[in-house]
Amino acid sequence: MAIRLYNTLTRRKDEFRPIDEKNVRMYVCGPTVYDDAHIGNARPVIVFDLLYRLLRHTYGAEHVTYARNITDLDDKINLRAHERGISIRELTEGTAARFHAAVDALGCLRPTVEPRATDHIEEMKALCEKLVASGHAYVAEDHVLFSVPSMAEYGKLSKRPLDDMIAGARVDVAPYKRSDMDFVLWKPSREAHEPGWDSPCGIAQPGRPGWHIECSAMAWRHLGEVFDIHGGGIDLVFPHHENEVAQSTCAFGHKVMANVWMHNGFLQVEGEKMSKSLGNFVTIDELLSTDTFGGRKWPGEVLRLAMMKTHYRQPIDWTARALEEADAKIRTYRRTLEKFNSTESADVPEAILNALSDDLNTHLALVEIDRLDRQASGVSAIPPSSETEAIDRQTIAAGQLRASLAFLGVDVAAPAVGGVNKLFHLQIETLIAARLAARKAKNFAESDRIRDELAAMGIQLKDGKDPATGEPVTTWAVMR
Ligand code: AMP
Ligand code: ZN
Repeated sequence: MAIRLYNTLTRRKDEFRPIDEKNVRMYVCGPTVYDDAHIGNARPVIVFDLLYRLLRHTYGAEHVTYARNITDLDDKINLRAHERGISIRELTEGTAARFHAAVDALGCLRPTVEPRATDHIEEMKALCEKLVASGHAYVAEDHVLFSVPSMAEYGKLSKRPLDDMIAGARVDVAPYKRSDMDFVLWKPSREAHEPGWDSPCGIAQPGRPGWHIECSAMAWRHLGEVFDIHGGGIDLVFPHHENEVAQSTCAFGHKVMANVWMHNGFLQVEGEKMSKSLGNFVTIDELLSTDTFGGRKWPGEVLRLAMMKTHYRQPIDWTARALEEADAKIRTYRRTLEKFNSTESADVPEAILNALSDDLNTHLALVEIDRLDRQASGVSAIPPSSETEAIDRQTIAAGQLRASLAFLGVDVAAPAVGGVNKLFHLQIETLIAARLAARKAKNFAESDRIRDELAAMGIQLKDGKDPATGEPVTTWAVMR
């Protein structure tokens, strides 16, 4: 069945036709690693993980490239590292490692590539040069600015009225801008805590990129000048994605940057967007390993199932009650499957694939999951003609249920990894990542402290080097 996706650019559901079926390419804006991700930030990660799984199933895993960046270059990061008295690298490495551990626990596959902004400065500078050369950008007071009036189609993605955009731009007025709507591609670094690189376009003062140019540069390097799908949360449509489109289309001279633009709705608390600035947030880690929300810990598969209950474009109200319901479902599926031999294999039923292919209709996919669960338990709408048929039917349904849950990334296996509880496993990995970051930063007092903390938990560490990259790696074992 054809995949149909709602495209923010056309404002309708269109049939998805990749540019090259052998090389399907998707870019999703990833986390800004200044602080731990909250459960709202997990929504795009889960939504686009589901799409990634569907694309791999449809086109073959080796034919899909999924790039999700790590924004490790941002003024919030500089400020936070400065406040804490640690290096930018130490802050971003630690936060990125905790982000990985958290989204792993939510059952998300790692993307094919995870580019970091700091590894793509040359591409960002090259884009600045191209845009200045073609008259779409200019240099003023050590800044490179994109000239919005130079682009007739600016605003096509967000379809915001020009007046709104001008009013929005007034928030960020600067005397060196030719038009209020012009935005920063490159800016000077003057303070000691601001990281700086040699500037492009003949600017003598060292500088650093603006946020929007980072994604244009990383998408270009890993996916090419034009690619298939670009995703992120709905808050990114304007200005971030509008500006990415402006930069990339004007630099390369194509009509589009990506053919399909997809945006997830907000995860809300009592009707308001969950966000750091409103202070109404709970981190993924807190949900997994503390009693902060609803007075108990929540396994990753419960959080994932709760997220999937709502269609990705609708807002989700995040409540303990919804999590309790998801938890009860997981326990039901687990109980059903325990009665069957786990070696029976089955294909994912068409009904599940069709639901996902219809603009990721996870709600419908879960209705189908419940139907399979009832069938496997022997509760079926159609009466069987014999006892053998009843048992056969149940076994088939159980195999399909197991395959479907695995396809959707919902882990219903007994909650243990390598002999230890999954949550404990996550804690260990998080501590080890923090210790590696401390060692890289030569903060040996901190790395020893973490080693002692792990020893107290009964975990023994062994340090070594990755034979392929030469990077330090740490393995661990439970002490006997
Ligand atoms: P940030 O780290 O703030 O750049 O956000 C990372 C991703 O999370 C972006 O795709 C945002 O659109 C998304 N996001 C942030 N808050 C929410 C929320 N409350 N609900 C859904 N997505 C969100
Ligand atoms: Zn981005």
